[in-house]
Parts: sequence; structure tokens; C-alpha cells
Amino acid sequence: MNEIPYEIVRSNRKTLALTIDSEARLIVRAPMQLGEDVIRDFIKKKSRWIADKQRHVRDYATKQSEFLLEDGENVLYLGKSYAVLRKDVQEVSTEGNFIIVPEKKTLEGFADWMKIQGDNIIRERVDYYANLMGAKYSSVKMSNAKRRWGSCGAGNTLNFAWRLVMCPQSVIDYVVVHELSHITYKDHSAKFWTRVATVMPNYREAQEWLRLNRKLMEVI
Ligand SMILES: [Zn+2]
Repeated sequence: MNEIPYEIVRSNRKTLALTIDSEARLIVRAPMQLGEDVIRDFIKKKSRWIADKQRHVRDYATKQSEFLLEDGENVLYLGKSYAVLRKDVQEVSTEGNFIIVPEKKTLEGFADWMKIQGDNIIRERVDYYANLMGAKYSSVKMSNAKRRWGSCGAGNTLNFAWRLVMCPQSVIDYVVVHELSHITYKDHSAKFWTRVATVMPNYREAQEWLRLNRKLMEVI
């Protein structure tokens, strides 16, 4: 049998864990000292589970890449997956697990709606954290970026991808805190990360969420 390729992330954890990321890659989380032979044995034992998961992610990715804003399609909004429901209404709204979209709305019009929500929510969070952290920025703009979630330019101009509106609030907050921390530290030095962690001790969970869900956020 062919060996399954994997990426390994070592940490102070005590046990082995496998995850499949949004690009169907196998990520192995392992204790610092654990030998690669033990890891390969473990992967072999779990090969059926891995194949199932990877197939599922690939199928889902194909389906998602052809997002047409039709009934039953899924879209992420504030970290929750909603099923699209087209109705004869005027405004977009959410209801339980559904996102109600006017029949007349085009995909472009729906993206505009998402952008406006993103803009409102992100600006509110920037205000909140700038106050909390005593950070002085000069402006906030939304970008169309699909990978670059935020940036802090010369003169402390902040940019955020409106697609962040698909993330849970805690993830939006992390990106906001990250960019506001660049007002004091222009690099990714230890001091910078200490600053981020002071405001948001579990920021690594947000980074992980972004890594795992990046693909899903590119559908629109
Ligand atoms: Zn940065």
C-alpha cells in the first residue's frame, strides 16, 4: 500500500491526533519526542478513516467551488454554516439554519450584502479593541482579498478582508487584535506575539480556524 503523505505538528501534547484540513491534507499532531515509526503505524491503522475524510473534503470542495446561490447550498456567516433558501422577500436575513435570500438577488448582489455586514462588524470590533489596547490607527478600509485577512500599512492604515464576516466573531477579533498590535510592533517578533496573547490568550485557535476553513471562505 502507498504511504499516505502527511504534515507533522509537534507540541507538548501527550497523545497523537489526526486531522484533515480544508485542502484534504493529513495533519498529524504529535508529542515532541514521538518517533516517526510510531506515527506511521498509527496512520496505517487509521487509513480507512483518513481515506473517508479526505474523500469527503474533496467532494465538498468541488461542490463549494461551484457556488451558485441556489436552495440548499451552504454558506458561512459569522462562523455558522447556513443553507440558502430563495424566497420572494426584499432583504437578506437568517432564520434558524437558513439564510433567506431574495429571489431577485444575484450572486454579486449577495456578495455586496456580505461586504456591508463585514464592513459594519469589523469597524465595530476595531473601535472596541483600539480603545481597549490604546492603539491609534488612522483609517480602516475593506479589501477584496481572499488570503490576506488584514494588514497595517505605513501611517497605521488598517485593511481587512470583508470575507472575514464568514468567520466566528472570535476569529474576526483575532485578526483585528493582530493588526492593531502592528501599530506598536511592525514585525512578528516575540514581543508582538506577547502583545497579541495579552489581549487574546487563545489566539492560536483562531489561527487554526482560518487555516482549516480558508477554502470554504473562497466560494463567494
Ligand atoms: Zn502580521
